[in-house]
Amino acid sequence: MSSARYCFAGLPPRISGACFCRSVSYTVTGRPVLSAYCHCTRCQVMNGSAFIWTIHFPAAAFTWRHPEPHDDALDTYVTDGKPWKTRYRCKRCGCCVGSYNTKTEQWSVWGVQLDKQEGGANLDGLKPTAHIFYDTRLVDVNDQLSKWDGYEGTSTRIL
Ligand SMILES: [Zn+2]
Ligand SMILES: [Zn+2]
Repeated sequence: MSSARYCFAGLPPRISGACFCRSVSYTVTGRPVLSAYCHCTRCQVMNGSAFIWTIHFPAAAFTWRHPEPHDDALDTYVTDGKPWKTRYRCKRCGCCVGSYNTKTEQWSVWGVQLDKQEGGANLDGLKPTAHIFYDTRLVDVNDQLSKWDGYEGTSTRIL
């Protein structure tokens, strides 16, 4: 997938993210593979939201940063239909902070949990470029971004 759509000029080399209570935190670095609003039914139910801002990074780009052993602060969950994807959440506040996909060897994190304050980070370069799994949307979104029934560029474009 082309990375030319993303502008990294304003991005710091590392961006931090955290759960609501900040017991769990991580950093991501470099270019994301994807940044999109996801309307899939798993994201809807698991996050209690009509759609979420997901950003995918290669495995090597992601690092836990809360104190070791990292697993002490983390619960994991694997859904029946997707055994290759492990979802991580904070044991204290219950907030999902990311998931790892062993098929694609990519981490998914949520844009809203990235730290906008640290170093005056400007996250504009990470903004979503599309709406994905838009066929299961709960609301219509009237913006300029493309709408897909699966992932951007590899599924049928709806709008
Ligand atoms: Zn927490
Ligand atoms: Zn989703």
